[in-house]
Amino acid sequence: MHGGETPRPPFDGPVRHVYVHVPFCRARCDYCAFASVAVGGGGSATDVPRLFDAYVEGVAAEWERERAAHDVRRLRTLYLGGGTPSLLGPDRLERLLTVFRPHLTPQAEVTVEVNPEDAGTEFAAWAAGARRSPGSGALRGVRISLGVQSFLPELRAALGRTAQADPRAAFDRLRAAGVASIGLDLIHGIPGQTPELLAGDIATVLDLRPDHVSWYELDVSEGTALARRLARAEGTAGGGRRAAPVAALADDVRAAGYRRLVRALSRAGYDWYEVSNFARPGHKARHNLACWRARPYLGLGPGAVSTVGARRWTNSADPRAWAAALAAGRRPTRSVEELDDATRARERLLLAARCGEPVPLEAVSAVVDPDALAASAGAGLVSVRGGTLRVTRKGRHVADGLCVRLFRAPRLRG
Ligand code: SF4
Repeated sequence: MHGGETPRPPFDGPVRHVYVHVPFCRARCDYCAFASVAVGGGGSATDVPRLFDAYVEGVAAEWERERAAHDVRRLRTLYLGGGTPSLLGPDRLERLLTVFRPHLTPQAEVTVEVNPEDAGTEFAAWAAGARRSPGSGALRGVRISLGVQSFLPELRAALGRTAQADPRAAFDRLRAAGVASIGLDLIHGIPGQTPELLAGDIATVLDLRPDHVSWYELDVSEGTALARRLARAEGTAGGGRRAAPVAALADDVRAAGYRRLVRALSRAGYDWYEVSNFARPGHKARHNLACWRARPYLGLGPGAVSTVGARRWTNSADPRAWAAALAAGRRPTRSVEELDDATRARERLLLAARCGEPVPLEAVSAVVDPDALAASAGAGLVSVRGGTLRVTRKGRHVADGLCVRLFRAPRLRG
């Protein structure tokens, strides 16, 4: 996917990237809108292992089915996300990887999302590559994305993260075991996250020196428990009661926090290569880069999304319905969307804007308003040179809003 390939229309070409959605969590966090089922407190002791085993078999069946249906080449990246993939444990994760290993390139990047409470010594040893299946070839362990959210327990509590495990101790165990690439996944804009508390998280990250950092702004989806708590806090704010501990941060505080962490990580030698992502040299997330470059990808598992060519489809989110469809020899598809040329062009620009990648102007000119483009170039938010358009570092701070402005006029003209 890197240099040397001919530019092609968004999502066209053979599939070399697979995302596997693991739809299980111990408990639901208050802010989360991802497709996942809480298994920590529910179900009998025998139900959950059976559910996990059926899930692993289902992914294997879905992979075989999709592999036969599309032009799938050796995979350059495989990403196990969720949900909480680490909840499956090393044995089932190993079984899952065994399904894919024969289909990976020797240098393939394999990423597993891990929650701190699962990262014990046995898990860390597995992640470091202590155990290999026949045919694993040159594959050395896996890349880990560790879900921290915040190093401060009170901020994790504000997000409704019930698990108590210390993310710093989990990171240390993974490092000590020899995991070659560890990323930390954090959130900013958390209710109650003062500039001082954010500075504390930044200092801990710089102290640990992870290979990769994803630092997303809190996105409170409608219908989540946190959205309801924030709405209640807003309702009481003017009533003279004491300040609610879950009040949302003001927009300017969030924006200042974001600028601060971008500055701190950049100064510490991290490449700010996407709106929310930072990497030390040689540690950019190749799977995410492929998505941002609009490469075709297959999504397997309940709720997973795939995009190949002009077609995007989404699986049934219910693990049992998904498994039943596969067991009956049917595709577990819930919905299908045909992407028209304008939608693909807009997505191409939106994705490229997030990482400052150049886009051939002719590929997006049909959906970009020339006046808005000129104004944005004048403001230093984009540069247009040699027939390519690129969103600058300054523009990346406001990438999504910038694209909306660039798109508006063509949409109105319809
Ligand atoms: S935030 Fe992560 S761990 Fe929490 S419910 Fe969502 S997917 Fe599960």
